[in-house]
Amino acid sequence: MCGIIGKIGVGNVVPDLINGLKQLEYRGYDSSGIAIINNGEILRERAVGRIKELEKEINKTNPEGVVGIGHTRWATHGAPSERNAHPHLSSNGKFALVHNGIIENADEIKNQVLSQDVVFFSDTDSEAAVQLIEMNYKGDVIEAVSSACKEIKGSYAFGILCTDFPHMIFAAAKGSPLVVAEGEKGNYITSDLCAVNDEISCIYRLKDGEICSVQKGKIDFFDSEGQLLAKKSEKSELDKQDVTKGDYEHFMIKEIMQQSEAVEKTVDSFVIKNKIQFSDVCFQEDFLKKQLKNIVIVACGSAYHAGLAGKSIIEALCKIPCNVDIASEFRYSEAFISKESLAIFISQSGETADTLAALRLAKSRGAKTLSIVNVKGSAIAEESENVIYTKAGREIAVATTKAYSAQLAALYALGIFIAKKIGKMTASQEKFYVEEMKKLPEKISQTLEKTNEDVKKLAKEIYRSPDVFFIGRLSDYATAAEGSLKMKEISYINSQVYAAGELKHGTISLVNDGTPVIAVAAQKDIFTKTLSNMAEVAARGANVVVITDEKTKNRVTDGYRIISVSDTVKEFKGSLLVLPLQLLSYYTAKLRGCDIDKPKNLAKSVTVE
Ligand code: GLU
Repeated sequence: MCGIIGKIGVGNVVPDLINGLKQLEYRGYDSSGIAIINNGEILRERAVGRIKELEKEINKTNPEGVVGIGHTRWATHGAPSERNAHPHLSSNGKFALVHNGIIENADEIKNQVLSQDVVFFSDTDSEAAVQLIEMNYKGDVIEAVSSACKEIKGSYAFGILCTDFPHMIFAAAKGSPLVVAEGEKGNYITSDLCAVNDEISCIYRLKDGEICSVQKGKIDFFDSEGQLLAKKSEKSELDKQDVTKGDYEHFMIKEIMQQSEAVEKTVDSFVIKNKIQFSDVCFQEDFLKKQLKNIVIVACGSAYHAGLAGKSIIEALCKIPCNVDIASEFRYSEAFISKESLAIFISQSGETADTLAALRLAKSRGAKTLSIVNVKGSAIAEESENVIYTKAGREIAVATTKAYSAQLAALYALGIFIAKKIGKMTASQEKFYVEEMKKLPEKISQTLEKTNEDVKKLAKEIYRSPDVFFIGRLSDYATAAEGSLKMKEISYINSQVYAAGELKHGTISLVNDGTPVIAVAAQKDIFTKTLSNMAEVAARGANVVVITDEKTKNRVTDGYRIISVSDTVKEFKGSLLVLPLQLLSYYTAKLRGCDIDKPKNLAKSVTVE
């Protein structure tokens, strides 16, 4: 979380810092700020809330400078206030610092620094770093940063200015992303290249412990001891994507409507002549066939729900036990995995801190690792032995939709790929599934179109409800869980998901007259079971809505409202059933007047644990 940017250019860098921060706003929007060096002094502007608030402040004073850093914050330590907004200044005003991450021993450092009569201006963990750097400074910034970083526990990407070096930006990183870019109009440091609006000739990604100094015509890298480092540049693969809303009112609805394209591009990337072939997946011949005993999928949030759907398809097609775990739990658990395990990590950004830590744990236990990520070059992709890239394109709304759909497609393909490799699927079965998968984009468009109006009406009925419940069994449960998460994320309605059969062990006590219960029920074999659970809540006054498909809808008891999606094979149904649920959360949130693309307290890329 938190986005940082720094630029050293020829003209005034302030407009570029502001534009960059707008691109980084998906990483947090509690407050923002910039610091620039002007006539050897640090000028700083900060504001609570969105970048537009900062812009208002800047328009009053019009600060200018050729070197500057900026920050957009998702608060971890200290309230989202102006005094806690970054950049933070050191006591003597010589240093300004922006930080992404968490300094776990900030209190310890503060006590140590306080004994030197240093004054603290904020409640953040980040300020401890800038004060520690000042304390260690004896004329050499790299030396001061290196000594400070040795004491800091936790994660960080820092951007630093020092008035003694008014033509330089310094940066350091450990556990948080930081890219250094050489551009036509200047050099940059940033959490994400999307913040740089320039022709980039090459980039460098800081590895854990590395430090760098950036000047206009020169970038130097140092190891954690402050020793000069030869670092290889990478080509920038940033493709300038459309980041406007176009004719849509919100990015979320635009991205919902882009799902067909996202799934098509993802499927096209691994379907070659009716076979699944992954370009960045290479297991040793015998691993899948002879050694593989269990699969574990690790992820957070919606990616975790994609994992639940993945479990269903992998177990059904491969007959290999597959567990799904939440990354922040897995990393501190016994994590029973071994050389005979395949560990799969799912993350849209490829930066999710807990998922990255879980990946490192799995590697240390000797498990084979594979990640499903949307961003090339991200830490999770780089550190996994095998990668499947989803091709969802840039997703801007905080609540994921198209990236989730692309993750599902990747998991289907992976299930088919493994089943074929281990002899649980014939070539003609593979062809059948692949052909069905290729029809998904069209069916996604169809389903969005035909459910849209019904869902809008439903949203009008439920938007004032204090609670909404979602139920389903097995893979329908995964879809229900995703629908429920979307609902609470953006509409702030208290929404709960329950495995349909589990209702009577708890949630049913919360069902009252008129309580909306959204039942996802499209699995032939267990349909009657879920139908009984609908009857149980209906008997207690619930307003039951059934999300099912064309084939199954005739089996629904009279009296329930039905929203039906197009038909597909049972393993892929989640891709269509989730669509009306995404639309439902969107229209409900809209009626409630919520800030749909930037829901409160959330951020898109979760780089802190
Ligand atoms: N810990 C810092 C703060 O609360 C940075 C947070 C982040 O990177 O999300 O200001």
